[in-house]
Amino acid sequence: MNAEVGASSIRRLQTSLRQRPIRELGGELTIAKSSGHLVIRSEVNGQTRTISVDTADVNFHTHPGTCKDIEGASKCAIGVPSSSDMAEILRRAFSGNRAHVIASHDGIYVVQVKPAYVRALLNEAYADSKPSEQKYWNTLTAEARFTSTPPSLKRLVETYAKRIYSEFDALEEWFYTNFERTTYRAFRKKWLAHARGHSSPFDVKVYTYGKHGKGTTHPVRVRYANLRLPLSNYHRR
Ligand SMILES: [Zn+2]
Repeated sequence: MNAEVGASSIRRLQTSLRQRPIRELGGELTIAKSSGHLVIRSEVNGQTRTISVDTADVNFHTHPGTCKDIEGASKCAIGVPSSSDMAEILRRAFSGNRAHVIASHDGIYVVQVKPAYVRALLNEAYADSKPSEQKYWNTLTAEARFTSTPPSLKRLVETYAKRIYSEFDALEEWFYTNFERTTYRAFRKKWLAHARGHSSPFDVKVYTYGKHGKGTTHPVRVRYANLRLPLSNYHRR
């Protein structure tokens, strides 16, 4: 099953990107009962280049600003999800979050952790107690599934999250180091190749904006995979 982000929410994200002073916007997208579309349920304002949002079923945040807006290589506004974003998306996939939508000046990124990867890590964490795995998750209330991850799984996820962080951090470092000799476009290409690589735990979709700021060229979709884990059945109301 897929859910599409509603047109009005996309417009809200696009408007927010143009707001001055530059600051990130983030929050929660939820499926509206009336339309079946993902719509902004709550939003918070962040700083120029940082934001903190509570974990939700589907989270979003913006990356406003372009390299032209901000002078100097070290302050160039990167549109693609940051190394911290990617590490956090991985962590949150194990505490109820199924997707992160990042709207930036160069498009809308939908980042999800591959269901097979989530299953593999769960199996690894519960390797010695496999039969009780589902049972354990089933004993948790929806709220507990959402906020708590068992320590064994937490440790495992943290190991992988740190690895993800350093991989993407190295890419950003490459960009900043070669800032005078390369382009954001070249960096973005490199970034996408890595994020979509065979060994990547992520599924990354990019939607480009249509002409004249009229939404995106294609419907922005979030995949609702059937993970056969209690987590996947959780809907916040
Ligand atoms: Zn970000």
